[in-house]
Amino acid sequence: SGNLGRHRDEHSRQAFEQAKKVLPGGVNSPVRAFKSVGLTPIYLDHGTGSRVFDIDGNQYIDYVGSWGPLIMGHAHPEVVSALQETASKGTSFGAPTLLETKMAELVAERVPSIDIVRMVNSGTEATMSAIRLARGYTGRSKIMKFEGSYHGHADSLLIKAGSGVATLGLPDSPGVPEGVAANTIAVPYNDLASVQLAFERFGDEIAGVIVEPVAGNMGVVPPLPGFLEGLREITTRYGSLLIFDEVMTGFRVHIHCAQGRYGVTPDLTCLGKVIGGGLPVGAYGGKREIMEQIAPTGPIYQAGTLSGNPLAMTAGYTTLSLLTPEIYDRLERLSARLEEGFTVNAQEAGIPCRINRVGSMVCPFFTSDEVVNYDTARSSDLELFRRYFAAMITEGINIAPSQFEGMFVSGVHTEADIEATIEAHRRALRSL
Ligand code: PMP
Repeated sequence: SGNLGRHRDEHSRQAFEQAKKVLPGGVNSPVRAFKSVGLTPIYLDHGTGSRVFDIDGNQYIDYVGSWGPLIMGHAHPEVVSALQETASKGTSFGAPTLLETKMAELVAERVPSIDIVRMVNSGTEATMSAIRLARGYTGRSKIMKFEGSYHGHADSLLIKAGSGVATLGLPDSPGVPEGVAANTIAVPYNDLASVQLAFERFGDEIAGVIVEPVAGNMGVVPPLPGFLEGLREITTRYGSLLIFDEVMTGFRVHIHCAQGRYGVTPDLTCLGKVIGGGLPVGAYGGKREIMEQIAPTGPIYQAGTLSGNPLAMTAGYTTLSLLTPEIYDRLERLSARLEEGFTVNAQEAGIPCRINRVGSMVCPFFTSDEVVNYDTARSSDLELFRRYFAAMITEGINIAPSQFEGMFVSGVHTEADIEATIEAHRRALRSL
């Protein structure tokens, strides 16, 4: 690791104080403030490949990857040069461009459930729009989601949410009207019996079930065998739409997304993160018959000034083009090695630790219980996590400042990066 046990942060401290004067909490997204770990956020200056560099001159092997998008690392040369070329021709027109069709063709070809796709500017927009479409299409009002899942910050989805909401231990957000909240049913992840019960009671009112096919916002929680298949069966039986929120898993866990990995095809799919290659992008797509209910072909409205803009399409398209089957094999191999190394380290240190992993999403939970849902994720020792986080940062390993987030391995991490990370992790655990 790059820091040799020394960690300077004077410049980051100063930068944070200055930022707090003009930004709420000093940040534009809550978890960045490091509040739950009680530290000063690290101000990053630049990144290259698997590394990021902060304004105090520390470097880190990065497993945050901008919270998922950077599956081919920071400032990938092909992405940067494609962006430069596109930028020189103008950044946004609000008129159709050829790039949008090219991008949509690639997405439709790779994602089993997607016949046609609408580009938006964030994961939040994708899920919010998919929910509106599900309601408009079915003429029903209720939505089912899972406790500890995060689908962005739209009103109807901020109920029992994971990610930053879980990290900060917040209750359901003030500002969401009761009438909206009343239309969201939240049940435990991986619990088909609860899903079935809710459908028996409200089945003909449920427009859709939105699910992270691998939960990534309560830490990483894989679907138990049969869970996704069961959701497919129940939603079909009740005439509800099955919506996969693949904002995190899309192109992350498989070349054909989680739906390709598990062989379950939803009606609608939400995408974000990786398909933007580090620029602000989201997308939702699905069956033609459903998608054509949105304007201009149908009556359900959704629009965007910057949607499908040339820069975002270029970064996304170039990134997806880099994602070959060989890259997914590499991600699997490197991530499996990381999991193995971490497991041995925890055993040697005598620290209870459960590691959940799906492809390059890796999450060590500080608990001896199997983690299958939000309640079991919350059985983790959060105080231990805080100390672990600080130790990893000192070791030059950048991970998300929360037990409820996974690590993302990229296709440009090297074998040496992984071994250095395992070594750093061993020292970090010993220091706790
Ligand atoms: N859905 C999932 C599964 C996510 O992980 C996230 C973001 N972490 C979102 C939706 C929201 O995406 P965004 O932050 O781009 O609005």
